[in-house]
Amino acid sequence: MQDLILLEPHEADLRALLHRETGAEAAAYVIFGQSAIAADPWTGAPRTRFVSHAVRPVPDEDQVSASPLHVTWSTRGLIRELGRATRDQLAFGIVHTHPGGRAEFSRQDDRNEADLARAVCNRNGPGYPFISLLLAADGGMAARVWRANVMVPVQRLAIIGRRLRYFGSLGQAGGDPEILERQARLFGSGVNDILRAMRVAIVGCGGTGSPLAMLLLRLGIGRLLLIDKDVVEVTNLNRIHGARRSDIGRPKVEVLAREIREADLGVEAVTLNAWAGTPEAYDALKACDVIFGCTDDHDGRALLNRFAYFYGVPYIDVGLRVTPAEGALPYAITARLSAIAPGSTCLLCRGTVDPRRASEEHLERTDPDGFRRLKAEAYVEGGGDPAPAVVTFTTEAATMAANELIQALTGYRGAEGMAWARFRRFETLEDKRVGIAARSGCQICDERALWGRGDVEPFLYRAG
Ligand SMILES: [Zn+2]
Ligand SMILES: [Zn+2]
Repeated sequence: MQDLILLEPHEADLRALLHRETGAEAAAYVIFGQSAIAADPWTGAPRTRFVSHAVRPVPDEDQVSASPLHVTWSTRGLIRELGRATRDQLAFGIVHTHPGGRAEFSRQDDRNEADLARAVCNRNGPGYPFISLLLAADGGMAARVWRANVMVPVQRLAIIGRRLRYFGSLGQAGGDPEILERQARLFGSGVNDILRAMRVAIVGCGGTGSPLAMLLLRLGIGRLLLIDKDVVEVTNLNRIHGARRSDIGRPKVEVLAREIREADLGVEAVTLNAWAGTPEAYDALKACDVIFGCTDDHDGRALLNRFAYFYGVPYIDVGLRVTPAEGALPYAITARLSAIAPGSTCLLCRGTVDPRRASEEHLERTDPDGFRRLKAEAYVEGGGDPAPAVVTFTTEAATMAANELIQALTGYRGAEGMAWARFRRFETLEDKRVGIAARSGCQICDERALWGRGDVEPFLYRAG
């Protein structure tokens, strides 16, 4: 399967840049990051996904002519952009519009692109991809990838942001459609097809992750990736959905995978009994469409936060916090949901990930003796008493997270897509949505240089 991700801010740029009052066709360059997946966790097959990284206009002096049926421009700028993309190990693409037509490549497009693909191949070799993206006036889109004279249609084109939109054929939908019939009555069967085709990761399979897995199973997500390094303990039995007393000592991911398998609803779960920051986990996460973070681990969340910007995979982070409160009530009980995608502020800017805790956790994992020494000397804070947890609250937090995904796909609360942040206070019955301003200068979320950057060395430019 060839898939391609266009980031919502890039789509907005393209729509503005390529709009012509005259109704003429227009073109621009799009540069893509590459996400080489060694083995898709569900199929085992390798594939390369492209993620939009930058949009560049065709300079005025290069534009030759345009009408509602054609656009031509000199290739001077193209050669320059191609050289630049190649140097940065990015993939080069063009985008053009069909202002009066549909999102279907024309015969003229076939001929022009075959010529361009040959030119790109002569310069960069046969393995180097050349991507063509097509925008139609009705909002439709299509894309294809050329390597020398071999053309592969993009089967699945995703626009990623507050909304999640998919174009193209979604592949074989598994499962019995009757199972999801009552859901189709609300959202239409098209949404079920999208859900069936989705690959969704849950990182952290405890109090929040386990109910989320059960919800995504019933919602009809076709492929689930479950990542957690821990085993079931007796004190988890109050909140891990599906866990039995006899599961004590078993990896949490195995317990959930068993429940999913035995339910037999056409949902395929893959497990990884490891920390999310391992190379094996990265490769699996790169194949996903959405990642849910259900862990307290600051280091892991800092990683997934960065990952969302580099790979254009939306990250929905959810957590429950119980803190002693001042005033009449003894505790503040808050479910928090944070949606992260290029265009939003990141978890670090929001203060949801504590960089100091993240580095302490990193130390604890990589140098346990050093961590213990520092802890004894009270230099580090982590590893204190376990936090309180109640199944009804953790499950409600999971429901909020699943509903945010439904909102991104269906707009059942309105067309604006996901809320970037929501807080639910259980003891006061308050529900808050918070708009989040960009902190200027953040390298991850406020500058675009890392958006859609894809594969780099070291991974995510993250050393140590
Ligand atoms: Zn065309
Ligand atoms: Zn930031």
